[in-house]
Amino acid sequence: RDGLVVALRAGEQILRGGGTSVTAVEAAVQALEDDELFNAGKGSVFTEDGGHQLDASIMRGTDLAAGAVAGLRTIRNPISAARLVMEKTQWVLLAGEGAEEMAVAHGLPTVSPDYFRTRRRWDQMMAAKDPSTAQQAEYSTVGAVAVDEERNVAAATSTGGMNNKVLGRIGDSPIIGAGTYANNETLAVSATGLGEVFIRGAAASTMSNLIEFGGRDLVTAVHEVVMDRLPALGGTGGVVALDRDGAFAAPHSTPGMLHGWLTTEGTIVTKVFTDE
Ligand code: ASP
Repeated sequence: RDGLVVALRAGEQILRGGGTSVTAVEAAVQALEDDELFNAGKGSVFTEDGGHQLDASIMRGTDLAAGAVAGLRTIRNPISAARLVMEKTQWVLLAGEGAEEMAVAHGLPTVSPDYFRTRRRWDQMMAAKDPSTAQQAEYSTVGAVAVDEERNVAAATSTGGMNNKVLGRIGDSPIIGAGTYANNETLAVSATGLGEVFIRGAAASTMSNLIEFGGRDLVTAVHEVVMDRLPALGGTGGVVALDRDGAFAAPHSTPGMLHGWLTTEGTIVTKVFTDE
């Protein structure tokens, strides 16, 4: 919860200074990437061969501009690489070596691969390899949504992916319309959960479409996808979602989901369980 407060304050500082929602979600996600308790940046889960491959994406609600990176190994803050793809290139999704070269060319800090390692994630990877200890996956991808004083929304998501994943596996987090979406006319949303199902169910864009074409309000649209459509495809997870009028929802089909929000007055609320 302390990590969430740090992230929310980082976003707040940007917004109070007149910054954009894009800068605010980037700042919030950077704070979570730097906190080793979350599965993004430092503290990411391991690939099956004991390495890391990090994914991230960001989207701007004003014009549907988006940027994403997949399979990064040496960029300290993948969310900033995603923003560079959005703002400095003609592309939307860059993977692997090319994504790292682009980030380095624009001056992003690099780290040695062992920067991302933590004992806790190592033990989780080893446990997943042993059938007698393999447990249900725990999702702790990070994400942020924000609306700024111009009432423009943005969304950002960053992850190490799934524990013990095969090399080259890419989940929903860097896929625009699956793990991340932002449209001023509908919502900004960032997801965590079983990535394969969020991709197959086009989770984030379905929420937007239910609002745009299906006449749902934000709360109904995100609830329908997270609680009905995705479980029907065999996957659990949750989202944080916000629209330009400040409507917010954070449904999850998992028992809990660490999330928090900041009100216009500056109050921070953090939550793990629906009934707390
Ligand atoms: N959605 C992420 C993925 O599939 C995992 C997570 O949410 O922790 O890569």
